[in-house]
Amino acid sequence: MARYGDRMRDPAAGFWTLVGRALRRRCPRCGNGPSFETWLRMAENCPACGFRFEREHGFWVGAMIINTILSFASLLAVFVGGWVAFWPNVPWTGLLVATVSVAGVTPLLYYPMSKSLWSAIEMSYHELEPAERTAANARVAQNSP
Ligand SMILES: [Zn+2]
Repeated sequence: MARYGDRMRDPAAGFWTLVGRALRRRCPRCGNGPSFETWLRMAENCPACGFRFEREHGFWVGAMIINTILSFASLLAVFVGGWVAFWPNVPWTGLLVATVSVAGVTPLLYYPMSKSLWSAIEMSYHELEPAERTAANARVAQNSP
């Protein structure tokens, strides 16, 4: 159980530590609690430190932007990679099927990563507000035996 004092920066960890936690789908604040219950369902709060992942209304717009960038980059890589690899006899139908498949699968594949990454990136420059810290500590205290 992690509790943070009022004097230290919350979270105390630096940018790359936060990103590392996000890539492991852990709470960016403490690194202990899993941030996802299933592949597509994020927990509301960290079970270890009580941090509420959705910090404000509209918070996940940044995650949507990350997901869109990653998905389009994958789509472009498959399309251009296939085009270059098979030039001059490009199998357009096969390339179209592959590209559309990538466009359908990658947003789901990147979904948890984009949310946890956004949470970590946002937290790296926007530390917890006192009210968030108080609420998180109250959740932890409520779950303690
Ligand atoms: Zn946590």
